Amino acid sequence: MDTTALANLLFPDITKTIGDYETIYPPRDLPEGAVVTRIAPSPTGFVHLGNLYNAIGERLAHQTGGVFYLRIEDTDQKREVEGAVEAVIDAMTFYGVHFDEGATADGETGAYGPYRQRQRKELYQTVAKSLVLRGLAYPCFCTEDDLKAMHEQQEAAKENYGYYGKYALWRDRSIEDIKAELDKGTEWVLRFRSEGDPAHTVEVQDGIRGTLKVQENYTDFVLLKSDGIPTYHFAHVCDDHFMRTTHVIRDESWLATLPIHVQLFDTLGWARPVYCHTATLMKMDGSSKRKLSKRKDPELALSFYREAGFPQEATWLYLLTVLNSNFEEWHLANPDADSRAFTFSLEKMSTSGALFDLEKLDNICREYLSRQSADTVYDGLLAWAKQYDPALAARMKAKSDLYRAAIGVGRGGDKPRKDYGNWRDAAAFLSFYDADTFTITDGCPENADGEMRQAILTAYLDSLSFADTPEEWFAKVKVLTEQLGYAVQPKKYKKNPELYKGSIVDVTNLIRVALTGRQNAPDICEISHVLGEAETRRRLEAYMHA
Ligand code: GLU
Repeated sequence: MDTTALANLLFPDITKTIGDYETIYPPRDLPEGAVVTRIAPSPTGFVHLGNLYNAIGERLAHQTGGVFYLRIEDTDQKREVEGAVEAVIDAMTFYGVHFDEGATADGETGAYGPYRQRQRKELYQTVAKSLVLRGLAYPCFCTEDDLKAMHEQQEAAKENYGYYGKYALWRDRSIEDIKAELDKGTEWVLRFRSEGDPAHTVEVQDGIRGTLKVQENYTDFVLLKSDGIPTYHFAHVCDDHFMRTTHVIRDESWLATLPIHVQLFDTLGWARPVYCHTATLMKMDGSSKRKLSKRKDPELALSFYREAGFPQEATWLYLLTVLNSNFEEWHLANPDADSRAFTFSLEKMSTSGALFDLEKLDNICREYLSRQSADTVYDGLLAWAKQYDPALAARMKAKSDLYRAAIGVGRGGDKPRKDYGNWRDAAAFLSFYDADTFTITDGCPENADGEMRQAILTAYLDSLSFADTPEEWFAKVKVLTEQLGYAVQPKKYKKNPELYKGSIVDVTNLIRVALTGRQNAPDICEISHVLGEAETRRRLEAYMHA
């Protein structure tokens, strides 16, 4: 076969060589051991948790003086949605992930671009042409039906699926046959001519998993689709080589096609990057683990966390806990340190399904928020509210003192309150403080209802003094509890319920419902001071007649 003739027939417009691109994209001038890595999402508009998970590469890059960049894998035009690049950048920026180079919303920065694959067609075709020249790639004119028939035959014969051996119909066809099809205008794809042997294994060093032994690829997989656009396999190899990527951090679902990728790197004589296959995110579904699914699990979307308002840093704390087995220990030893101070290591990443647990995330966020100052929490809530609850943002600005004081309740000390782990819950939790959003949600404690409701609240209002210390306040509550026939010690009431109308719990819960609308709320005394005397009295009086 005259491969030069074939190469020129298939790629008449390609005049550059691989060598030209080696000059255009020289090796990066970086310190020894610098990590160059990227995320390479498809612009489908769906930014998922896995994108953030793999953006951990940014930390590796920046820990080592390397480069972190954004490449847009837009080879599948049908799945592309407008604004998707902005969405990725916006989501990453929100979580503090910054790209040193790559695609930007309206263009790109960096010397290794273009960073959108559709703009790199010439480069892929140049590499493809070089493979044709070497007799390592050929056009295939099989139709969908041909491929379907092949698949059925393989199924019936219980043979491995794929385009290889006797099934590789176009592997050894003459240039005349090829020309004839081209003249007819038949669509074609470019296939790799694999010399691999299924009996051979290849070793691959995975940055997370150590040495992997994979079966050599023996199928003639597709390099370029019929529109001249490369498959992921081919594009990623060309891009990661010419963008001088040192580490490819990607989901473990790519392990299946890893043999193809290393075969391409080896054939092209390019140094393989360190592949790092991250464990797929899983969740518990009943008693079994399963992959997070786009269709079933709203929590797979990164926007889920932003909309709910899980604080970014706390989300990272959780993610790092899932990602690096030694993070939790480090965090316990450095509870107030920024998670960026942690040295991330690939070797400490889990290799089997990383279990993602929303409840654990929420707990970490509660813990985190409980340790922040009231001002920090106020600012975080306001920033979230501006985007997701403008009415709340307006109220917070109009009554900033009230909100700051409300957020301050139960803060500080050894056992700060952990009422909320995200801004949406915080908004709901704090709503009772504001007269505009105060509603009674819980019922009146049974033992303190009816005429006793009146009696307790009247006595409480009479005794109430805003000059009292919390101790004085509580002493007065005890007195009225006793005077009205309730047990000061709940234990005593439990033992002899016939002797009392109820216990102090009923009395304080009644006051809580009157003031907050809920039986479960922070310290009454503290709440009252946040509400102020007028509002406190107004609510107590109102509840007498409610
Ligand atoms: N576009 C691929 C994906 O989103 C990128 C995988 C990679 O990082 O190489 O899964």
